Amino acid sequence: MLLKIVQAGHPVLRERARDLTPEELRSAETQQLIALMRETMRDAPGVGLAAPQVGVPLRLAVIEDLADVEDDVRATRERAPVPFHVIVNPVLRLVPGEDVTFTEGCLSVRGFVARVARARRVQVECLDEHGAPRVIDASGWYARILQHEIDHLDGTLYVDRMDTRSFTDTRESLPAPRRA
Ligand code: ZN
Repeated sequence: MLLKIVQAGHPVLRERARDLTPEELRSAETQQLIALMRETMRDAPGVGLAAPQVGVPLRLAVIEDLADVEDDVRATRERAPVPFHVIVNPVLRLVPGEDVTFTEGCLSVRGFVARVARARRVQVECLDEHGAPRVIDASGWYARILQHEIDHLDGTLYVDRMDTRSFTDTRESLPAPRRA
């Protein structure tokens, strides 16, 4: 079963999502939500999906990047495969250093992409889907995915951060990058 991915304009994308309690995280309902979000992300296809994108205002996102792009793109974007995992109640820290600017898209802003400057390195403290604490040190494309997904939990979309003059209908810019 696939979940419906809401689009920009839906109020849930502009709310700050709330933390899950340990009991909520362990519940069958949340575990089912995670399974359905994984299926929905893979079907889209995307490299990340945050709960608000399926209408659920909780601080939870799923991430998986197969990095199935051309070698030169993978190198330029510092993109490496990231196995499926879940981040819950994440706290994001941008590691001081250079920003990097690349084109990105969003499953909730269907049909468009734009250039967005983001920190090259981040550290994220969160829980996994079993409630175990994790510290993620990420750089390159994975750091971008984490920033994009955690933005969703704060009610922020990439259009708030983009270089507005780069905003592009994907039909004008093929092939489209993978969205999150
Ligand atoms: Zn998105």
